Amino acid sequence: MDDDLLTVLVVEDEESILLALEECLLQAGYHVETRKTGRDALEVAQQHRPDAVLLDVMLPGMSGFEVCRQMRAKGLTMPVIMLTARSEEFDKLQGFEVGADDYVTKPFSMDELLARLKAVLRRGRLQQKAGRKYQFADVEIDLDSRAMTRAGAFVELTRTEFDLLVYFIENEGKALSRDLVMNDVWGMEYLGTQRSLDSFVANLRKKIEVDPHRPVHIQTVHGVGYKFSLR
Ligand code: CA
Repeated sequence: MDDDLLTVLVVEDEESILLALEECLLQAGYHVETRKTGRDALEVAQQHRPDAVLLDVMLPGMSGFEVCRQMRAKGLTMPVIMLTARSEEFDKLQGFEVGADDYVTKPFSMDELLARLKAVLRRGRLQQKAGRKYQFADVEIDLDSRAMTRAGAFVELTRTEFDLLVYFIENEGKALSRDLVMNDVWGMEYLGTQRSLDSFVANLRKKIEVDPHRPVHIQTVHGVGYKFSLR
């Protein structure tokens, strides 16, 4: 196996879709692992640490949402793209709440999927600038190890949460529109809604604010979006 190849874990119980995804990813130059159940997927994610996971929502037994939630609970932070058969906003929001980075709705084109995958993988590499740390209140962020501690204790952030937090810090004091944030953090490929950004912000607030309902760091600017404050 070539060490430079990025590994994508595909979790999908429908054989035809699984094979199509595997073929497409192999042709695009990825190394591919495939699994058909959530339980197997969790095991592979923990043992092999794939670079990204494509995760079907409707799996027999454990749902894709539950798989994603458990991955995050185990400290696995690689990007996860949910494959959902339903397009309801509820599903998307639930996906973001359990820590997914993006989603595609079936039927999706392979081009669209590859673009999303490239985007989530690229975002993680963007922030790998050397030797920098950020600190505010009792929060410390190490850009090299992509780790966050709060009052000295390690706090798990997903890749997207980390990128979003660093983006806020680097734009401290500016009122940022939701469109601008989504464009800068997710890139032009992102088709999510403003409410999905709000879900990420809600997750981040739980991790960095003393009182997530009265945030002092990630403030809401009504009619605009958000403003980050170091105070
Ligand atoms: Ca399925």
